[in-house]
Amino acid sequence: PGGFLEVITGPMFAGKTTELIKRIERQAFAKRRVALFKPAIDTRYSAEEVVAHNGLRYDAFVVPTNGEGVRQIEEITLREGFEVIGVDEVQFFPIEIVDVLNRLADKGVYVIASGLNLDFKGDPFPVTKELLVRADNIIYLTAVCTVCGKPATRSQRLIDGMPAPKNSPVIQVGGRESYEARCREHHIVPGE
Ligand code: ADP
Ligand code: MG
Repeated sequence: PGGFLEVITGPMFAGKTTELIKRIERQAFAKRRVALFKPAIDTRYSAEEVVAHNGLRYDAFVVPTNGEGVRQIEEITLREGFEVIGVDEVQFFPIEIVDVLNRLADKGVYVIASGLNLDFKGDPFPVTKELLVRADNIIYLTAVCTVCGKPATRSQRLIDGMPAPKNSPVIQVGGRESYEARCREHHIVPGE
């Protein structure tokens, strides 16, 4: 009873992590048992906490980005009886996470999943896509295009300040030095 699947999505710097922490904190203030999970590969700012680009932070369970990590999310949530869980950077987990989060929501857990909409080429991240169509609520955030100031829906990858070509690897964890928020017009993928 009361289970719910909420998805926070958008490009980098849209405030997804900030929104996730805000929602988790609000539930914690209301005395609900909350937990935040994050993938082990995202060590940009901290190994043990979820940290937003603006410095806002919250303690997290760090789990590997494989089937074992997905099982840990389910197992820890059920064992500890968490009523509300957040998963940051959900697009880094294997596709099995979709069924696991959906099942947890069916069992009464309020699940908040935050993840990137599109990769640097503009292609959907399959996990986010599959979660979006199953969501009970979607929060679609935009950033500000670093070229024109319009709402940004894409993440531009840069290598030495130049747009990264389409044959570069999809997963490349980085921050302000290697990514910028861009609108559709100013999102560039050489070789596309
Ligand atoms: P996300 O998790 O979506 O990457 P965060 O919540 O970690 O976003 O960070 C959002 C913060 O990023 C903003 O509050 C702002 O301080 C910063 N930021 C940096 N570049 C931009 C940009 N181009 N547009 C909007 N915010 C930006
Ligand atoms: Mg984030």
